[in-house]
Amino acid sequence: MSMGDSFDEECDYLFKAVLIGDSAVGKSNLLSRFSRDQFQLDSKPTIGVEFAYRNIRVGDKLIKAQIWDTAGQERFRAITSSYYRGALGALLVYDITRRATFENLRKWLQELREYGSSDMVIVLVGNKSDLANSAREVNIEDGQSLAQLEGLSFLETSAMENLNVEEAFLSMITKIHEIMSQKSL
Ligand code: GDP
Repeated sequence: MSMGDSFDEECDYLFKAVLIGDSAVGKSNLLSRFSRDQFQLDSKPTIGVEFAYRNIRVGDKLIKAQIWDTAGQERFRAITSSYYRGALGALLVYDITRRATFENLRKWLQELREYGSSDMVIVLVGNKSDLANSAREVNIEDGQSLAQLEGLSFLETSAMENLNVEEAFLSMITKIHEIMSQKSL
């Protein structure tokens, strides 16, 4: 695999995955939770693509996941093709307290199909589940049926309370690992 300069000899697999979805749905906070187990309450949208690494052991294999975040660049369409290039997985994130972020998933799925590889593993993530009782605008059933229709995995998460974050990333990573190990048989 060609994944840039940072290939680590010690890991068995290295792959790239991307975070996508509307601004302020919680992508940066999901990523910092997953990569450093931190939650930043006032994360500032920075300019430029950011990414984080995390090593995960699946069976006897060490996998290094390189996860890219748009870091507030959703509006710069020029980065689109390089952002998706080589990505084997995507977390497609919406905010359960903002209906518009769910409606926009159609646009994100179109973009994924246009620029992403056809066997990309996509996990649909409804974030901010800690606000479900007070501010929910998207029913869990809506997320489930979209996921079923599009053939995606689905989870609701809270980056703030660290609910299901690990599960969402790990479900993507283990599926990618399955696909990669089948290919290398
Ligand atoms: P991004 O633009 O998609 O990367 O979103 P950010 O990670 O910057 O988060 C946008 C805002 O939502 C910030 O004010 C976060 O503090 C807040 N936020 C992110 N995740 C959660 C969550 O799970 N629950 C709640 N209540 N707020 C969250």
